[in-house]
Amino acid sequence: MLHDAQFEFGAARLSQLPPDTGNEVAFAGRSNAGKSSAINVLTGRKQLAFVSKTPGRTQQINYYRVSAQRYLVDLPGYGFARVPASVQRAWQEVLSRYLQERRALRALVLIMDARHPMTDLDEQMLGWFGQTGKPVLVLLTKADKLNRQGQVGTLRDVSQALATHFPASAAQLFSSVSKLGVDQARRFVMAQLVARDVPDGPT
Ligand code: GDP
Repeated sequence: MLHDAQFEFGAARLSQLPPDTGNEVAFAGRSNAGKSSAINVLTGRKQLAFVSKTPGRTQQINYYRVSAQRYLVDLPGYGFARVPASVQRAWQEVLSRYLQERRALRALVLIMDARHPMTDLDEQMLGWFGQTGKPVLVLLTKADKLNRQGQVGTLRDVSQALATHFPASAAQLFSSVSKLGVDQARRFVMAQLVARDVPDGPT
């Protein structure tokens, strides 16, 4: 089903989002963490999300339709130094409101570079979304760049940090290159997209 994902539209403001019904799973992460690559590998579509040569360029909320009332939502990458502070602040406001208020949002996939996980901005995202009690899957991506010992240590440290403050969250190793963790991440996303308590009923 994820293979059927199609770009539907991009919203530059919250007021441009579609009606707040159905099931959405959002993807967030620092610029350059590997979010676009993860979306592409999860959907099996090479170019669905644009893998950017210029981190921080995409400043809109992109909706990919999987089926009626079911969307993958690509949130703007955050933390890119060359984006002016005022623009970053404006987007943080958009992200915080989307994460805290959007009812159709079932779950968050938070992409972190396994070599630099749990930055301050990552924790801020977890803080905003964690208040909702909805599930978070942290993908520790680029895991192919760590040796086995590094992978195990990172997974343990991040899992422990999450368990303390964000009990509805879990972490797993991921790589868009080696495909590590892809099947598990797909299962998580699918389970959230087909959740039954859709406000207006699935069609
Ligand atoms: P985004 O800004 O978070 O969307 O990140 P991109 O998906 O554009 O990836 C940023 C850079 O990291 C690109 O050069 C990708 O080829 C590379 N990259 C992304 N995921 C992986 C991964 O799992 N392993 C490795 N080795 N490189 C990756």
